[in-house]
Amino acid sequence: MPASVVIVGGGVMGLSAAWHLRREDPGVRITVLERAEPGAAASGASAAGVRVMGRDPAERALALASLARWADLGRELEGETGYRRGGGLRVALDDTAWRQVPAWVAEQRADGVPVEVLDAASAWRLAPGLTPEARGGVLCALDGQAEALPTVHAFANAGHRLGVRVEAGVAVTGLVVDRGRVVGVARADGTGQAGDVVVLAAGAWSAALLAPLGLRLPIETRALQMLLTEAAPAALDPVIGAFERKLSLKQLATGAYLIGGGWPARIDEASVNAWTLQDDSVSASLQVAREVHPPTGRCPLARGWAGLEAFMPDDLPVLGPVPGLDGLLIAAGFSGHGFALAPMVGDVLARLALGRPAREELWKGLRMDRFDLETGER
Ligand SMILES: Cc1cc2nc3c(=O)[nH]c(=O)nc-3n(C[C@H](O)[C@H](O)[C@H](O)COP(=O)(O)OP(=O)(O)OC[C@H]3O[C@@H](n4cnc5c(N)ncnc54)[C@H](O)[C@@H]3O)c2cc1C
Repeated sequence: MPASVVIVGGGVMGLSAAWHLRREDPGVRITVLERAEPGAAASGASAAGVRVMGRDPAERALALASLARWADLGRELEGETGYRRGGGLRVALDDTAWRQVPAWVAEQRADGVPVEVLDAASAWRLAPGLTPEARGGVLCALDGQAEALPTVHAFANAGHRLGVRVEAGVAVTGLVVDRGRVVGVARADGTGQAGDVVVLAAGAWSAALLAPLGLRLPIETRALQMLLTEAAPAALDPVIGAFERKLSLKQLATGAYLIGGGWPARIDEASVNAWTLQDDSVSASLQVAREVHPPTGRCPLARGWAGLEAFMPDDLPVLGPVPGLDGLLIAAGFSGHGFALAPMVGDVLARLALGRPAREELWKGLRMDRFDLETGER
């Protein structure tokens, strides 16, 4: 049983792990080291869509288990996550997309994802304002949305109440290894922080901490754009996506539409999380949103932002032990869809850190040993 755990990164994953750990075992000393502030990178910028529909088979079991936690998460954390289960609707805009629907639905149902096909009239009833061009869509009633920063703060505050120590403004400069075991981290202030277990949850910056140890984690950093409109009358319950289009569209509690879907922003300086929105991405994203849901196009744009996210070559995260290094756990590379998984990622990391059964059947396809860590290839 570890006496102390050090967590590198105060994003939603690191904070979820910290809270789960301390809840499981109040005797373990937990320190989260965050070089900026909690939620400063991908987690704070996130669209916070909470979905299982459309995920890779390797991620489905973990996503289903995680979605089962969201409805009660605010109560567990004694905080606000802004979670709402309004469903997810993926729209088919033309015959080519519509023809894909039966196979797409059957394959997910076989894994227990509750998806159903809606004709155009039913899709419209669910999402009034949808383009009349839509041939129909696929609904997953389990899907929904949360709010990014409130959720991050809810995890941080819940951890704090249980005695988790979060040190903001402290960068980790290296992992300290002794005879094949990670025994702590080096901090930018020149001091060290010992830990019986270290959890690496540093998002897009995780690979840089493994590289000096000869481990090549093939993360590619991308900046993802989000756009927010002015408030409009409440009209949209589900989160809207579309086949063959880059779109995630939701209406927030304020009435504003939040538009994402993987449109890129420019990375100015990855090391300091600096980005710039690109005009062509902004206009292309707005055009798709308008095409699918014209009322969105009538709302003036209020602002936009981006977040740096870690993408893996197979678009799946790495979770669990790091091969060849005892004392180190990793959760990184969430490839644009990690937010929804945070409750179960934290639970799995806590169980692993405490040496307890860690429900491996949920995440066996996400283990880091699927890559050759000398070459970074799968
Ligand atoms: C714009 C956008 C929209 C998204 N939309 C969705 C969505 O709708 N649904 C969904 O499920 N997912 C979505 N995602 C993905 C999801 O937000 C991420 O997968 C998730 O937040 C990753 O969390 P994390 O804790 O691993 O990383 P991060 O939030 O990036 O946290 C890593 C933290 O580590 C810190 N750090 C880095 N290096 C160091 C160091 N050396 N020392 C100390 N601290 C360090 C960073 O400052 C950062 O705070 C989206 C992501 C983006 C960017």
